Amino acid sequence: IPVEPFDLVIFGGTGDLARRKILPGLFRRYCSGQMPSDARIIGAARTDMDDAGFRDMVAAAIREFGGGRSCDDGTLDGFLERVGYVAVDAKGEGGWKELASRMRDEVPVRAFYFSVGPSLFGDLAERLHSFGLASEQSRIVVEKPFGHDLETAKALNATLAKHFDEEQIYRIDHYLGKETVQNLMAVRFGNMLFEPLWNAQYVDHIQITVAETVGVGGRGGYYDKSGAMRDMVQNHLMQLLCLIAMEPPARFEPNAVRDEKLKVIRALDPVLPHHIVRGQYAKQGDEPDYRTDVENPRSSTESFVAMKCHVSNWRWANTPFYIRTGKKLRARASEIAVVFKDAPHSIFGEEAGRHSNVLSIRLQPNEGMTLGVTIKEPGPGGMRLMDVPLDMSFAEEFGPEAEEVPDAYERLIMDVIRGNQTLFMRGDEVEAAWAWTDPIIEGWQKRGDFPKPYDVGSAGPEDSLMLMHRDGRKWREIK
Ligand code: NAD
Repeated sequence: IPVEPFDLVIFGGTGDLARRKILPGLFRRYCSGQMPSDARIIGAARTDMDDAGFRDMVAAAIREFGGGRSCDDGTLDGFLERVGYVAVDAKGEGGWKELASRMRDEVPVRAFYFSVGPSLFGDLAERLHSFGLASEQSRIVVEKPFGHDLETAKALNATLAKHFDEEQIYRIDHYLGKETVQNLMAVRFGNMLFEPLWNAQYVDHIQITVAETVGVGGRGGYYDKSGAMRDMVQNHLMQLLCLIAMEPPARFEPNAVRDEKLKVIRALDPVLPHHIVRGQYAKQGDEPDYRTDVENPRSSTESFVAMKCHVSNWRWANTPFYIRTGKKLRARASEIAVVFKDAPHSIFGEEAGRHSNVLSIRLQPNEGMTLGVTIKEPGPGGMRLMDVPLDMSFAEEFGPEAEEVPDAYERLIMDVIRGNQTLFMRGDEVEAAWAWTDPIIEGWQKRGDFPKPYDVGSAGPEDSLMLMHRDGRKWREIK
């Protein structure tokens, strides 16, 4: 279904994120026929460039990062006709009048994507108003990181609030745009099968893993000031935890969903120091260690974190949520696993074996869900039990159509145009998440905590395995 005509300005349109995600994503939406013929996309950044130069850059970005979408040159040209560029200085006066003159009054949707460093968010918000570009209908999209701690997040919210209402602010967490993440809500709230079991009585524990094989790449300077806790846990992992733990909202509407997520964050207990393991990848063969990658020989920043958390409410009392994320791990794999309790009594005898049911929700690679079901081992060997997966892989189930499933950024940008904030973080959610993570980070600083080294290509430090082992549990394999 095509969205309404729009003017979309991408501040930072020449940057890495715009080239890898935003522009190729918009192109795919164009190819799918979702973009109306009079949509306009305007890149705005510091680089001095004209429309033609930017179009060349966009075409190159689409060829490199477009995911092999089979679009002929005619289609690409059609998309590029909708693309323009204005050189703008976020901190000065340059380019703003020109940008204002490109905005069309008659177009129903006007959106501004802040794909620049957060230090420029305030300047952009300010100038959008002083140069008369923003109206009550305009929307702004802001990228992570949203603040460095509670204080800076509050300041950022306050700055944006000077010029925009909360209903106009779209804080992106691209994990929420993933197909499986939304499917998680469909599975929970669209079936009778799971929700009655979705609580402390039937669920033994929950595991959330976001494992990366990459290191810090070219982002060492930023990452070393942030670490896994700020870069991944405070936003992506917390959001996943919220979707697993939240109560059913009355409706699938932005504030109804976000109210429930906020309640989860507020119900999180402070995490005890011995329930957290920090790690930093160590040198291995030719592979440099973390400190070399970030060019800081004394860095005490974590590239891995694992922890046991508790959501203290009736539904989840005493049900641990184990979460972990790290860089340079064995495989690139993101998974949420809901591990159900064992059957209370085995009528087949212990020798038949026992298997707990696990609902695994894979975010990447190979998005899909698997439910492990216990059945009899086939054959005449008596009653022995085994675990078989009821599998729903998107790629297999939907075949070539799965390729048409929009990636997270595409979907979220279209939601901005539609004015649907359901999959975006509200200001109070972000602040509550920082209020929970800040004391953890402050605790490390006070104690002079140093992360434990771990091997590149491993599942993280040994202590992370112990965190589970002590509770008689095991992490799921990262594969
Ligand atoms: P980048 O450094 O590649 O690009 C920055 C862009 O901002 C450039 O287009 C540059 O011209 C523009 N810019 C800088 N100063 C400016 C000024 N004074 N006036 C106007 N334009 C100015 O950065 P990026 O990697 O594209 O990241 C952009 C934002 O997205 C950051 O907030 C980053 O944290 C966030 N983000 C990036 C990624 C990613 O994968 N790259 C992922 C998640 C979030």
